[in-house]
Amino acid sequence: MLSYQHAYHAGNFADVQKHLTLYAVADYLLRKKTAITYIDTHAGRGLYPLNTKETQRLQEYREGIWPLWKASEQLTDPLLRGWLTTLLTAQPHASELTHYPGSPWWLSQALREQDRLTLFELHPGEHEHLSSQLLSPQAQRIYGDGLTGLSTLIPVVTPRLCVLIDPSYERKAEYLEVVDAVTYSLAKARHAVLLVWYPLLPAGHHHSLLDGLKESGIRKIWRSELQRHAPSEQSHGMYGSGMLVINPPWGLDERLAAAMAHITPLLGSDSDYRSEWLVGE
Ligand code: SAM
Repeated sequence: MLSYQHAYHAGNFADVQKHLTLYAVADYLLRKKTAITYIDTHAGRGLYPLNTKETQRLQEYREGIWPLWKASEQLTDPLLRGWLTTLLTAQPHASELTHYPGSPWWLSQALREQDRLTLFELHPGEHEHLSSQLLSPQAQRIYGDGLTGLSTLIPVVTPRLCVLIDPSYERKAEYLEVVDAVTYSLAKARHAVLLVWYPLLPAGHHHSLLDGLKESGIRKIWRSELQRHAPSEQSHGMYGSGMLVINPPWGLDERLAAAMAHITPLLGSDSDYRSEWLVGE
């Protein structure tokens, strides 16, 4: 039984880190003409109006995309400018931030004629929302399990593959299921670029994901973590957000570091962004 709904968290600090990273990776991939298949294993709704009762309940976007939007004229970093200009195109009224786009939207807007996109969503209500979104005609939406679906789709017919794995981690077993999915995918598509999001929680469950990947023999695993504050045993909530990029495009680390240096202070005075190789070449 799935209970997580991303609408309660849309546009928060973790979405900022995740979608900026996704945008930056796609931006690199688009420099070559050869076709790309994108697969989003845990798609969510695709687009989140900020005025819904779910998003308004916690208003997490107020400590995520909101301060960036407000400061956008001062954010001159080229990657950030591109990302925020693209975000503008998701708004029905350009001057107002009323909608926050999820990963299906970010991927859909990057599609060229030669590219493909498959979106998996297992929650029936979330899938219904996703089905109603206006996305590129090349975007295929599947109601089903994303990790099983991924294994049935690869190898893909296009020369390049980019996968986003962004589970809700409602079950602890998901951390190791992600390790298996990544290992399987790279065995079938060695050069695929894989992005994996994970939460930083005081219980530290993400260590099983990181340790599992370190032990898998996979190389070129880059990770970044954005912490809102230091972990504390007193708080149960998510204190930070992590992204892994396996087979990252050359230069991604520096480009994201430059962009994140501008936005991290806007996400809270204790915020901290770091990146490193989890496993090098
Ligand atoms: N990737 C989205 C974005 O960036 O906008 C957010 C995804 S949200 C963190 C996780 C989503 O995965 C939820 O909508 C949930 O219903 C869905 N989900 C959970 N288990 C799944 C599974 N096994 N296969 C596909 N989707 C699943």
